[in-house]
Amino acid sequence: MPACCDDLFQYETNKVTRVQSVNYGTIKWIIHVIVFSYVSFALVSDKLYQRKEPVISSVHTKVKGVVEVKEEVVENGKKKVVQRVFDTADYTFPLQGNSFFVMTNFLQTEGQEQGLCPQYPTRWTLCASDRGCKKGWMDPQSKGIQTGRCIVFKENQKTCEVSAWCPTEAMEEAPRPALLNSAENFTVLIKNNIDFPGHNYTTRNILPDINITCTFHKTQNPLCPIFRLGDIFRETGDNFSEVAIQGGIMGIEIYWDCNLDSWSHHCHPKYSFRRLDDKTTNESLYPGYNFRYAKYYKEYGIEKRTLIKVFGIRFDILVFGTGGKFDFIQLIVYIGSTLSYFGLATVFIDLLINTYSSACCRSHVYPRCRCCESCAVNEYYYRKKCEPVVEPKMTLKYVSFVDESHIRMVDEQLLGRSLQDVKGEKVPRPLMDFTDLTRLPLSLEDPAPIPGQPEQIQLLSEEVISRSGSTPGWCQCGNCLPSQLPEGLRCLEELCCRRKPGACIITSEPFQKLILARRVLHFLLLYQEPLLVLDADSTNSRLRHCAYRCYATWRFGSPDLADFAILPSCCRWRIRKEFPKSRGQYSGFKSPY
Ligand code: GDP
Ligand code: ZN
Ligand code: ZN
Repeated sequence: MPACCDDLFQYETNKVTRVQSVNYGTIKWIIHVIVFSYVSFALVSDKLYQRKEPVISSVHTKVKGVVEVKEEVVENGKKKVVQRVFDTADYTFPLQGNSFFVMTNFLQTEGQEQGLCPQYPTRWTLCASDRGCKKGWMDPQSKGIQTGRCIVFKENQKTCEVSAWCPTEAMEEAPRPALLNSAENFTVLIKNNIDFPGHNYTTRNILPDINITCTFHKTQNPLCPIFRLGDIFRETGDNFSEVAIQGGIMGIEIYWDCNLDSWSHHCHPKYSFRRLDDKTTNESLYPGYNFRYAKYYKEYGIEKRTLIKVFGIRFDILVFGTGGKFDFIQLIVYIGSTLSYFGLATVFIDLLINTYSSACCRSHVYPRCRCCESCAVNEYYYRKKCEPVVEPKMTLKYVSFVDESHIRMVDEQLLGRSLQDVKGEKVPRPLMDFTDLTRLPLSLEDPAPIPGQPEQIQLLSEEVISRSGSTPGWCQCGNCLPSQLPEGLRCLEELCCRRKPGACIITSEPFQKLILARRVLHFLLLYQEPLLVLDADSTNSRLRHCAYRCYATWRFGSPDLADFAILPSCCRWRIRKEFPKSRGQYSGFKSPY
């Protein structure tokens, strides 16, 4: 395979830690079951396996009903009450969009023609003399253009004269009760055709089997498309007679929630109603809903009109909803989006392990409490799953004293201080891994003592005594020697094997049998390079470096720490004595990174 493709054809996966625990196993399964139940429930109840599409629709309405209205008309200067019957053409008006309008009340100004006449008296139109009026002035509120004259409107009321449709419209309140109060008995038939183009599905709200003489009722007849206007208002908690006086806007909502799957097909409209205008009529500035229109005619060749201010109810029909159909891609997307929830168990259990290990155990607040028992277990799990990595800084080094159970991490510039005097930060000593030792069958086998040669240990203790006089001040074991390094670097090697005075580590059996044993070190070198041939020049330095490494691994446990471990001066010099360099200076510790 070409070199370029090596990177391409590889796969990375995570290494996991399996915690054999009944408690955590149970928690995991409980969380998984809850997540699975929720995901399945949501899938089925919200039909999340469907592709949903918004509805497209058209609406057509027909209002029916007749009402008798008592009207006051002025005939030959006399007021007269006449009965008039209003049918559909009288009270409905064509509107744009999905709306229809039903007139409920009106104010009529009959027989208007173009001419000059006084304005209707209001606070703004009253005047005392011509000076109060302005020729050509046109108030947006007024009905005409002022001529500049102040004339009598009625008795002693004078208003500015205008050129307008005369007589001008009276500023009257809408009649109470509403003239077409019984419009609440009108019915409206709503025809609604809908389409889901993406699903290629069309339907309508009036199906052939519907009884066309029905009237809508929320519970008894929820599918009937014929609505009594009074019922609509009752549904929203409004009083039709009150709304009829000033008019209003009412929304008729048609909601289509269609399931187009063949196995559970369902596509019926749901009707609901909502008052859309400002209900608080007394507070709002322009309450209700009204507009003006005029009927024009000619009388004796003069163009005349009847102006009508119409109050009524506008019904807005709002059609919305969705149609859903099973879609494989949608199902896959949903399953994919829920997979992450199964990670909740891991997040939750990790949180338990993390919070109930470090926080409680390391603080030692509750020394022998029950909580701490489980904390100890959690601490163990935590250590197993967590591999701390310290930033390999130039200043990082580890120190181990034979009279301390922990290791110290020093991460600072020594600046002339001996390494022995720096406190550092305590880190737990990694548990000893004895598996490596078993690979050294030779290590614990004593070489046959050469007759006549004294035991090495004895020799060593003699050496200790003979040297004890000239040890540096920081040495606690009596075997350390001053560093050979230049002035600035010297403090790094000013380190003893002990914190407090006592026996030196080089007198211990493992040091003798492992670090100083030529046969063992040689075997270790061969273990690394099976066919290694050591020439006279390199033998000692290879063995020496191997001994350093061997010591670091022995005393610091993990290779991560061993790389930054500083050997005590006594060990360093004992090793150098055993495997000396023929000439020149020893270079000492170099940071590996
Ligand atoms: P050299 O043989 O003349 O270079 O001098 P040394 O006998 O001091 O050996 C130098 C090698 O041993 C370098 O690779 C150093 O990193 C390593 N070494 C020396 N001292 C220490 C030490 O205190 N700790 C560790 N981990 N390695 C050391
Ligand atoms: Zn010492
Ligand atoms: Zn020592």
